[in-house]
Amino acid sequence: MLFSSIPGLDEIKDKLVTAVNANHLAHALLLHGPEGSANLKMALALATYLCCKNRGTHDSCGSCDSCQKMAKLVHPDLNFTFPVPGSGKDDEKEDDKAVDILTSWRRFVLDRGYGNLQDWVAHNAFTKQLNISKAAAKKIIQTVSLKSFEGGHKIILIWWPELLHITAANALLKVLEEPPGKTLFLLVANQPDMLLNTILSRTQKILIRGFTDNEIREHLSGEGFCGAEAAMQIAPLADGSMREAYRLVDQVVDENTAKFRDWMRICYNLDVNAIVSQAEAFSAQDKGSQKVLFITGLNILRESLLKKSQLDQLMRTAASDRKFIEDFDKNVLTEEKLIALYRLLNDSHYHLERNANVKILFADISFNAARIIRKKG
Ligand SMILES: [Zn+2]
Repeated sequence: MLFSSIPGLDEIKDKLVTAVNANHLAHALLLHGPEGSANLKMALALATYLCCKNRGTHDSCGSCDSCQKMAKLVHPDLNFTFPVPGSGKDDEKEDDKAVDILTSWRRFVLDRGYGNLQDWVAHNAFTKQLNISKAAAKKIIQTVSLKSFEGGHKIILIWWPELLHITAANALLKVLEEPPGKTLFLLVANQPDMLLNTILSRTQKILIRGFTDNEIREHLSGEGFCGAEAAMQIAPLADGSMREAYRLVDQVVDENTAKFRDWMRICYNLDVNAIVSQAEAFSAQDKGSQKVLFITGLNILRESLLKKSQLDQLMRTAASDRKFIEDFDKNVLTEEKLIALYRLLNDSHYHLERNANVKILFADISFNAARIIRKKG
């Protein structure tokens, strides 16, 4: 994880990078921030930077073998502790289970770096209460007593230390106070006031603030998650949380799926009036939103080619028009037609960037799409 993969938060990145380069990093940091903040990602970026073999002034190189292992979360000196179901006092855990859960954790972090505790529960379909047990604390103590594998720092990342069982927290006090050299504890928390004072007093607190509206807006539209107009609307609603911003983007994508479906249906019915009025509505949108509809369409077509029934199903669902459903049998969209539609949309996507008259372009694509879909045989 590179610092550059986290939007904004420049002052926090600067502070961490400066501390590493000046050799002033405390041995136990509490990176705390609100839900949907980059607290976990920031901890991973810091771990990557600390272990990078070709460190730049502002970021890790991203390509050395350490960075590559960090990117996959498989670096042998990066140890994870996170809440799992259990009584907290459980002594030993079965090792094969521990391997499964670590694989699940890596997937979770890579897919949902802004995820919260409920997301982690849902990701694993946990049904019991979660905590970090005394056995997990013992394992940490054991880990820090060993030498690092790659000669650098040994990093212990604890996600949700708020859920440390009291016996686990007490077991960790000594090692948090005086860890062996080149050990870095990264506690990643949402609600630091839930932590024991004895833990708090042994860590240096670093606030990972929520994102600003601008940081969210630029990230969403810059990375192509949604159009500029949608990003502008979503940013203030997300209230600093990237998790919430992504959730809102998914809703926008759903809307675009419905829009694409309606558009294809109009083409299939060769409804000229509807095509013209859709072209007008489309041309009134900002470039970003126009692109999102095309990208959504291309994704649907690509998936349909892989899984032939996809678009058929999409066209059928939420259909209010009975005749349409009856007409639209499985043979309407053959593989050949799907490929032709894909090409049409892909070429048009290219022209969209350059063509000044979007209205004519959109109508033109619609009539071409109609010809493809309605072609006999
Ligand atoms: Zn590197």
